[in-house]
Amino acid sequence: MLNKSLDSNIQAANDAMPAGKPVTNPLPPLQDRHGRTFDYVRIAVIEQCNLRCTYCMPEEGVQFKEKDMVLSTDEILRTVELLARMGVRKVRFTGGEPLVRPDIVDIVARTVATPGVKAAHLTTNGLLFPKYAKALREAGLHGVNISLDSLDEGKFEEITRRSGLNKVLESIDLAVELGFPRVKINVVLMRGFNEDELIDFCELTKDKPITVRFIEFMPFDAHQIWESGQHFASAADLCGQIERRYPGITTASGTRTEHHIYQAPGYAGKIAVIPAFTRSLCGNCSRIRVTADGNIMNCLYSEQPYHLKDLMRQGASDDDIVALFRQAYDEKYKDGFEAKKAASIAAKINVSDINRSRASMTQIGG
Ligand code: SAM
Ligand code: SF4
Repeated sequence: MLNKSLDSNIQAANDAMPAGKPVTNPLPPLQDRHGRTFDYVRIAVIEQCNLRCTYCMPEEGVQFKEKDMVLSTDEILRTVELLARMGVRKVRFTGGEPLVRPDIVDIVARTVATPGVKAAHLTTNGLLFPKYAKALREAGLHGVNISLDSLDEGKFEEITRRSGLNKVLESIDLAVELGFPRVKINVVLMRGFNEDELIDFCELTKDKPITVRFIEFMPFDAHQIWESGQHFASAADLCGQIERRYPGITTASGTRTEHHIYQAPGYAGKIAVIPAFTRSLCGNCSRIRVTADGNIMNCLYSEQPYHLKDLMRQGASDDDIVALFRQAYDEKYKDGFEAKKAASIAAKINVSDINRSRASMTQIGG
């Protein structure tokens, strides 16, 4: 596999962020005992979704929380403000499908205006994006990640259990046209589903200034299609296929999660491979996760929620909330393997059974 200087690449990606308003009352940064600093938060703003991707949600949906069980707009903004005072500079809204939440444009606009925040991003399946794209651009959204797993209508319907490929393709073009500084496509690459489209997806980067990101399939699917093991395609394998197909491909700059990132000679965009399951990226983790039901999760593989929403609704002070974040990150394990092992010990079950209790990625936001 091609090597790159990770730090210089991340530096380049950070330098490209807007300046944002400075924080006037900063707090010490959020750090853990393994020397990591957390400056990026992913907030799931809703559990509902207008698709039913087979690897994410069951056909009938998951048991959604009542409306007042999710964080309100003011609670989200209070969280963002406190985290920004602790050094968080990048905020991503996810879900469920964040564009199903009616106040999403307002949430983005207020986040962008929060002192300390440099960039707000959104991860969406793209179906409703044409409706909100212009308003989101005007609100100051910096980046949009559009999830798309097949360029073939039949296969798209098979994977998402809904139609809409053309809408998603329209969204990608619209995002580029409107000049969003970061436009990325998230592809969950699975053997026997869409692995044969790897190169077709790479070819999207020929003329479009976008990053196509291949994400390893993770065991957070409601129906446990993961269980058979037959659909998993490893990051190393995907990198091998890409490097063989594009002789002379070079490494490029990207974010911390874009552990392998390339640019084919003469192409406008970039290609990234994200080892979400093999977890070679844990040492560089900078993420804070807030789930749709208002809990802090210090790792995707952890089963230990920290009850942010409950604390806020008990009338907590800013200091109490900051203390909860510090506790969550003080207790963060070295990597996802350790987090999963700890969860299995606490629940007195096998490590291999640990993610079965979670119905869907919609609760944690991917
Ligand atoms: N609905 C939005 C979307 O699909 O982009 C945002 C939420 S979705 C949970 C966020 C990301 O998680 C998507 O890119 C999706 O493909 C990814 N995802 C969901 N389930 C996954 C799984 N089991 N393994 C890997 N990625 C998954
Ligand atoms: Fe919905 Fe996104 Fe999950 Fe697909 S991956 S079901 S679009 S939340």
